[in-house]
Amino acid sequence: MVIILLGPPGVGKGTQGALLVEAFGWERIATGDLLRSARRDGSELGSKAQSYMDAGNLVPDELIVALVRDHLQKLASDQGVIFDGFPRTLAQAEALDGVLADVGRKVDAVVLLEAPADVLVKRLSGRWSCPQCQEVYNIHFDPPVTEGICDECGARLTQRKDDLPDTVRHRLGVYRDQTRPLVEHYEEASAPVIRIEGDRKLEHVSRAIRRSLVKQLGVGA
Ligand code: ADP
Ligand code: ZN
Repeated sequence: MVIILLGPPGVGKGTQGALLVEAFGWERIATGDLLRSARRDGSELGSKAQSYMDAGNLVPDELIVALVRDHLQKLASDQGVIFDGFPRTLAQAEALDGVLADVGRKVDAVVLLEAPADVLVKRLSGRWSCPQCQEVYNIHFDPPVTEGICDECGARLTQRKDDLPDTVRHRLGVYRDQTRPLVEHYEEASAPVIRIEGDRKLEHVSRAIRRSLVKQLGVGA
């Protein structure tokens, strides 16, 4: 199974991707996470990606496609894969189609998660996380007991540079212009596009996703 989780920043792709990994034993390939870990490791890819990411712009397609190709090559050919945050441009989608065709695979379905822009801005600009234990908070919905301090380990919380309000709005514009049009690409390629309302409790969203995958693709849960 090859599934793409498509949707704007802040809609909950990361959370839902992790839940699908648990439910179906798939491997999640999240390019944003891979890039952040490349930055932490101080690798060449990480330093090339840094300025694009901090400004809320897309990292160049060549870098991303090479990263994904490397990752896919390490997986068994029957390993289910869920892509989170990739592809984000038409060029990436076409490159992915090619990489998959080389190994006799294709995109089986696209899960399109959506939510209103004001909800996304609030979720992202309120997001703070713990650099020590990775716990994530939201100052609007799920604040820590003591402002700015991790409940779990007492470390000082930090905010991703690209979660500053102006950068969040910029990222949503980049999504609308460059990534949302992929829905038409997949509809034309006749991969089923499963639309899911993301502005609900996360358990409801995840149940809706699992149900539609079981119904449309017959994957066993
Ligand atoms: P979000 O979905 O919340 O924007 P991600 O963690 O997926 O967060 O991505 C963070 C940043 O990493 C993006 O704004 C972009 O700079 C870079 N990035 C991640 N995936 C891609 C991709 N497929 N193509 C280009 N840039 C990417
Ligand atoms: Zn912590």
